[in-house]
Amino acid sequence: MNDRVRSAELFAASREVIPGGVNSPVRSFRSVGGTPPFIARGEGAYLYDVDGNRYIDYFLSWGPLVLGHAHPEVVEALREAVLRGTSYGAPTELELELAREVIDFYPGLEMIRMVNSGTEATMSALRVARAATGRPKVVKFIGNYHGHHDSLLVRAGSGAMDMGVPDSPGVAPGAARDTLSLPYNDLDAVREAFRQHGDQIAAVIVEPVAGNMGLVLPRPGFLEGLRSITREHGALLVFDEVLCGFRLPGGSAAAHFGIDPDLVTLGKVIGGGLPVGAYGGKRRYMELVAPAGPVYQAGTLSGNPLAMTAGLTQLRILRRPGVMAEIERKTARLVEGLNALLSRRGLPYRAQGIGSLWGLFFSAEPVYDYESALKSDTRLFARFFHALLRRGVYIAPSQFESGFMSLAHTDADLDATLEAAGDALDEALA
Ligand code: PLP
Repeated sequence: MNDRVRSAELFAASREVIPGGVNSPVRSFRSVGGTPPFIARGEGAYLYDVDGNRYIDYFLSWGPLVLGHAHPEVVEALREAVLRGTSYGAPTELELELAREVIDFYPGLEMIRMVNSGTEATMSALRVARAATGRPKVVKFIGNYHGHHDSLLVRAGSGAMDMGVPDSPGVAPGAARDTLSLPYNDLDAVREAFRQHGDQIAAVIVEPVAGNMGLVLPRPGFLEGLRSITREHGALLVFDEVLCGFRLPGGSAAAHFGIDPDLVTLGKVIGGGLPVGAYGGKRRYMELVAPAGPVYQAGTLSGNPLAMTAGLTQLRILRRPGVMAEIERKTARLVEGLNALLSRRGLPYRAQGIGSLWGLFFSAEPVYDYESALKSDTRLFARFFHALLRRGVYIAPSQFESGFMSLAHTDADLDATLEAAGDALDEALA
């Protein structure tokens, strides 16, 4: 592995003109220390940095690249699309095709609106929920991340968890006043919130599989409970599947857990690595959105033809027989291999996976919410992370993020990863 001299130079220069040197906080390595490689290109399962190092990539642009980097069919579709222009600001058949593809993939989804990010998707979904119910309050879960707009940047996960600014300065007190933050997986807390504020709560928004405080699974009955409590009180249930959508067995939490949310937010995978988000749900709610209805929401680049092309191509490949199963098989293999490494060393930690998502907490106790996630040994994680990076394996630079898998990862990549992980663990523990 070459020293990352050029990366360090570029990082120093970037810090002069870009806050913290990055365009999204967790990229900066703040929680693990050190400085990030600057990336020159991605291909398949690999990232290549400007110093000539290759990494097996397990964060995959934070989730979107379920086929890996620069999948040849996605690249070819984009090459053809770009020659037809980069943006029209007028309707296209591509938007219709992607809308139909997503609706066909996601059970219970009736209408969908494309936006440019997951943040926009959750912001807009809540606007619809408030309009539909005429109520102001929203329930979210501590450690769930739904993007960085004001009303949901309250006790959030992801970068906000590492930064220690779950309540960011600059968020007007009014914006957060109507957000009730409850412990994940705690139905009693939800019941109590509805007992106190039931006629004021427009929606419960949840990551049905939580991926922004590390990977945390819903306890059996949690999602079902949310569904029945919200129905009972006339509030909407919003599944934020920006991260877990198209990465769970069956393609979605709705399919996997057999639950029918009122609204859904999507992003990442449906854009194939280009900027996309989407929100959708039942026709009676989505027809409130302008111009069909009075809830205003718009976007200069929404439904962008390049983004639609990349998303559509990726989803169609993902739906080919055996593709999702193959990615899930590799995830399970990695998780099994990591657990074997841990138990061989007598360590009380466990990796877990679901679909093409995986995670590893350096905590001896089970993690089921934000508080229990915080008990993880973040120093050990930081040492493990750097030891792994030096061996050419790049996982998300935080204990509180998920791992991802792609179709491009080979069994040889997994073998190399596990060998590196064993050595990295030994180095981190030494
Ligand atoms: N919702 C979830 C569950 C996410 O994981 C994320 C981003 O990681 C978002 C929303 C925000 O999406 P974006 O970063 O595209 O704004």
